[in-house]
Amino acid sequence: MKYFSTRDKSKSHPFSLAEAAFAGLAPDGGLFMPERIPMVDMARVEAEAEKSYADMALYLASLLFDDVPMADLERVVRQAYDFPIELNQVGDKYSTLELFHGPTYAFKDFGARFMGRMTGLLNEGGPLTILTATSGDTGSAVAHGFYGVDGVRVVILYPEGKVSPLQEAQMTTLGGNIYPLRVKGNFDDCQRLVKSMFRNEELRSQVRVTSANSINLLRWIPQSFYYFYGYCAWKRMTGDDMPTVVVPSGNYGNLTAGMLARCMGLSIKGFVAASNANDVVPKFLLTEEYSPRASVQTVANAMDVGDPSNFERMMYLCGDDVAALKSFVKGFACSDDEILAAINEINEHYDYMSDPHSAVGYLASKAYGESGFYLSTAHAAKFSEVTQMATMQSAPIPDRLASMMQKPRNFTPMEAEDDVLADYLRKL
Ligand SMILES: *Cc1c(COP(=O)(O)O)cnc(C)c1O
Repeated sequence: MKYFSTRDKSKSHPFSLAEAAFAGLAPDGGLFMPERIPMVDMARVEAEAEKSYADMALYLASLLFDDVPMADLERVVRQAYDFPIELNQVGDKYSTLELFHGPTYAFKDFGARFMGRMTGLLNEGGPLTILTATSGDTGSAVAHGFYGVDGVRVVILYPEGKVSPLQEAQMTTLGGNIYPLRVKGNFDDCQRLVKSMFRNEELRSQVRVTSANSINLLRWIPQSFYYFYGYCAWKRMTGDDMPTVVVPSGNYGNLTAGMLARCMGLSIKGFVAASNANDVVPKFLLTEEYSPRASVQTVANAMDVGDPSNFERMMYLCGDDVAALKSFVKGFACSDDEILAAINEINEHYDYMSDPHSAVGYLASKAYGESGFYLSTAHAAKFSEVTQMATMQSAPIPDRLASMMQKPRNFTPMEAEDDVLADYLRKL
């Protein structure tokens, strides 16, 4: 399998998997896609899903990464997917696919853990440094995704005083090959520093650096796998084989991965693109005009994106046919007040504590009333300030999170200066 940029319509510049993975973004500014979308054998998917998530993921990965030897792929998926995934009921009317039982309690573990292991496998040129800036959640998923991967070290820049204590604990208590840098500055400073390292030719001739961006196809493609698993669980639970899937969305990696699954032959009736006040895509689905704008801050802050990077994948997967897209993707948007009221409602009516992002999924399910399920993208305990505000109760903290909070934190404090960071990377 070769991989092409979304902008290379004539498919004239093929990339190998390793090239696409280490480049992240295509040189022409587009996003990488597989050259062709393989069709699945659904009987096989269902049989593998009965065995385990990892077995099912291995079959699907073998179709999309067919140049990687099976034994290697098997090691990757078994190491990456050693945590549960559950289709749960919320009252008797709603179902949700809980994607938050991984090490960082958010669905990004599905992409980041696969990417971490695959990067270790594909890396052939000596030690590799993953350089990433984070406002909180991505950093912890990447740190855990690459933790313990041979030949790879991860340098994470996060802004001092701007991430929650829990997020900081998730990045700074691992040790090993994870190097957290607490930067005196804000998230934009962290991003600026990372970009300046990638532009620094002299540094790059001395240190091999790459990014772990969310648009990287090693993070994006494996997110299509849990749609298959959710479908199988849904079919077993209800007998229905045409679910509508509601996807709480921000940068649209999650929803476009669902579209990929559908293109591979998964029977999904449609999707709901569920957003907070950052409603560019729902607006686009109404007006057919795409008007990106600056993001606004909400209580579901992992979805605060005003110009989603994966919009280009969305258009690619529908062949730029907006009418076709609208026939199976509906939009939904809601305000902070509605999110807070929904968290309280779910808690009171169904005795279920929801995080603010998943609550957007619940609201969209309620608005459309279609048979199917919504994705729950984070554990409520990760957003306890918000759930507390909504319900006046605190969410129970899972043991694993509580013990992480007790561990000593190790990080390097750093001034937001290019030279200081370049020097640090050289000496690492
Ligand atoms: C990243 C994230 C989202 C948004 O996912 P996209 O793929 O960017 O649309 C939703 N919820 C949580 C908890 C997240 O961390």
